[in-house]
Amino acid sequence: MSTRTKIEQLRQIQELEQQLKLKVALKMQRKQKKHLAARQLTEQLAKELQIQKELREAVESEQTLRKEQAAMDEFKEIVAREQAHAKALEKQVYVGCPDWTGSTKNWHPLQEVTKRDYKLTDTDEVELTGSRKEQLRLFKKPCAFGGMRYATSAMLQNGDRMVVKRILKEGSSLQRNQRVLEVDVRCLCIAKRIADAFNKALTQTSLPKSIREARITYSIPSIVSAPDSEVDSGRVVYLMEPHLPGEWKKWLQNDGSMFADRKVPALLEAFVHYSYHKTRKEALLQGGLMILDLQGSLMQNCGHGQACSNFQLTDPSISTGMDDPDADFGETNHGIDGINRFLDSHECSEICRALGLARISGKMQMPAKLAPPDPGSL
Ligand SMILES: [Zn+2]
Ligand SMILES: [Zn+2]
Repeated sequence: MSTRTKIEQLRQIQELEQQLKLKVALKMQRKQKKHLAARQLTEQLAKELQIQKELREAVESEQTLRKEQAAMDEFKEIVAREQAHAKALEKQVYVGCPDWTGSTKNWHPLQEVTKRDYKLTDTDEVELTGSRKEQLRLFKKPCAFGGMRYATSAMLQNGDRMVVKRILKEGSSLQRNQRVLEVDVRCLCIAKRIADAFNKALTQTSLPKSIREARITYSIPSIVSAPDSEVDSGRVVYLMEPHLPGEWKKWLQNDGSMFADRKVPALLEAFVHYSYHKTRKEALLQGGLMILDLQGSLMQNCGHGQACSNFQLTDPSISTGMDDPDADFGETNHGIDGINRFLDSHECSEICRALGLARISGKMQMPAKLAPPDPGSL
């Protein structure tokens, strides 16, 4: 090999070495760039995570704030209710009833109120049928206290005797109070519909005439809205219905139990049994309901004398076996327990038998959701 060739080879080798070094250097550079990019990415990610965390914390703290606000509102509502309750109880000391014909000394002056009337729709909801202004005068003292409402005598300008019923534990929201009273109206509408059917069914039996002619009557109250300077909203709402003459009696408790010392008239017991029997088969009231809390007055001056069975009832409470235990029947819905409590102490009479109400044995169970009622078990 000539010297020239050797030099040429050496030069080529050097060139290759140089190229290799460059390649390695480039590779190193790329690697470094990748590292750098990765580090930047990690940093960016950390930043975003931090932002997310801060956002989440902000949302959580706002939720907490809202929850605290809601709890505060609820607390205020409870305080307002308790205060109203205490005030109502204070008045209880001065319970009194007017003699109606006497002087106007113990009556508040006439005031303009708005009277709203309701009916039951085909889907068992209450619907406003009309509203009008009335001049109404309230007696200064309440005349009776129940567990949920208290009653005060009232008189329309034309002299009609009325009674108004106000919520004992009134909330501060007029809308809420209105809704509570609408539930009362709904219960009365349902009780009236069942009582009308019961009366009709009685006439078709072969029971003695005095029983066939017996009547259970409920009348549907109006909701009255009246000015009242004692409450924040400036207005109050109450139920208004005609004053019932005759002696006031209560025959059955709202939890389905009977009074130990007082016999429930067979007609009323049959009515309660009938209410459950009938509604268990109605599609809208699937699972059934029972009219409880029977109270009102037994008319004595309608010509029947001692044999009178003309019951004017009011303030029913409804317990339901429906799958939704508080399906708009208010605070006195005792559910399946109320129904069973009545059934436990009820003994069917000739009236139940004449109406074809089968004897009930065993406890009723809460029906499964949307399960059809079992017509054979009742
Ligand atoms: Zn009578
Ligand atoms: Zn019965």
